[in-house]
Amino acid sequence: MSEKAIDTQETFSFKCPACKDGTIKIDKVTYDLPDRDKVLILKFECDKCNFHTNDVIPLTTRMDSGIMTLKITSENDLKSKIYRSPMGKLEIPELELIVEPGPSAKFYYTNVEGILVRFERAVSIYKNSLDENDPQIQEISDLLKDLECAINGKFKFTLKITDPEGGSYIIPENKANYSFERSKNNDNQKQD
Ligand SMILES: [Zn+2]
Repeated sequence: MSEKAIDTQETFSFKCPACKDGTIKIDKVTYDLPDRDKVLILKFECDKCNFHTNDVIPLTTRMDSGIMTLKITSENDLKSKIYRSPMGKLEIPELELIVEPGPSAKFYYTNVEGILVRFERAVSIYKNSLDENDPQIQEISDLLKDLECAINGKFKFTLKITDPEGGSYIIPENKANYSFERSKNNDNQKQD
């Protein structure tokens, strides 16, 4: 494997748009992804208030379609970065989580923990909408317990992104836990 993360970290700054007082620090990190691709990640962070945001700019476009699989076995794996294109389907089978692609789906960039937190919020809202005698309550409560363990790094699971177009990325914390299976019908497509 020739992949490596190069930390070409540069810092510069401007005024915070939220509090108008603090200074926004910008960190630029270029990642060399498996399969020769590069993405640029911009992190914006205010030193006075909680304002922060991320942006991901793919520097090269991989058109290989396939299935990306990341095994989460420790708290550290939760920091792995996930970049899902609108065509990517994201799944965590152990938690029955599926994020279907669709025309309204957006590109999003987060880490594994961010996905779990978002999912936990949605499940909690759903649980609160149920009648207290609803037979689903027990099942939903169990799922929330598993989710809490997962967020604390105490539940092993698999995160899978199936992307028929290419363009989704996983940047693993532990590369040994990551694998990419190229689609079989991909051989006819152009190689760069
Ligand atoms: Zn601020």
